[in-house]
Amino acid sequence: EKVYLNGEIKDAHDAKISVFDRGFIFGDGIYEVIANINGRLFYYDAHLDRLKDGLKKINIEFDTSSLPKAIDALISASNLKGQDYMLYIQITRGVAPRKHAYPETAIPTVMMFAFPKTLPDNNEVNAQVITRNDFRWSRCDIKMTSLLGNVMLNDEAKQHDCYETIMHRNGVFTEGSHCNLFFVKNGTVFTHPADEFILNGITRIAVLELCKSLNIEVKETPIKTTDLLNVDEAFLTGTTVQIASIQQIDDHILYTENKKGSVTKKLQEAFLKLKYTVTPL
Ligand code: PMP
Repeated sequence: EKVYLNGEIKDAHDAKISVFDRGFIFGDGIYEVIANINGRLFYYDAHLDRLKDGLKKINIEFDTSSLPKAIDALISASNLKGQDYMLYIQITRGVAPRKHAYPETAIPTVMMFAFPKTLPDNNEVNAQVITRNDFRWSRCDIKMTSLLGNVMLNDEAKQHDCYETIMHRNGVFTEGSHCNLFFVKNGTVFTHPADEFILNGITRIAVLELCKSLNIEVKETPIKTTDLLNVDEAFLTGTTVQIASIQQIDDHILYTENKKGSVTKKLQEAFLKLKYTVTPL
């Protein structure tokens, strides 16, 4: 397995970083996961914009214009040319003596790896999910590498044999531990606005665009936990999740075995088409 690390392609076991890297010590960094589908990095520009936005928000100075060439070198070295794969990009603040404040002279650590993965065309996930209090911090818009809250919440889903944990804060649903959350009520699609309480998922953006082109009404308004019994459909979106229909939320069954809502189905079909028609990088 090959890894891109600070300008070099290395075997994974030779790719070494300092224990004083602030990514390791503080989780002081951001990341992206991008799917390469049918020879294209899906919504690469949107991922790049989010990456740049994240760097700006946490004051890491790094010129992303070197990335396409670096990605190309990594993909060649990983023998992934012509294959579907997942690309992971991580940029941390770099190595410095352990002090909380941003160091004056640290060089960002840039690390990438990719592995083969073909996302299924027919997303058969019919998820059972649990609900938990969203105890994460209030800057969930930053795609930071410190994912402990998400990890703890996701593991609870696993302990309950569930696909995901969906969260609520101050009485409204926010998102899942690794994906965004949508509801459908009387034909209208509802999702939490892209503020500081959720990560603005690229798949979320793509789904909102699809709603527009399909003339499906959208409200970026969060659903109240007390309104759960009134929703008709619910689904999750994310790079690896794509669009996953939700079958059951805690004890509340939305759909029985293998059935899903008509809006969810329509969006899944439109998303499948989109996967093969997005503009190439
Ligand atoms: N929310 C959270 C907390 C996530 O970790 C992710 C996936 N990284 C998403 C939403 C979905 O984002 P995307 O569609 O860009 O994968």
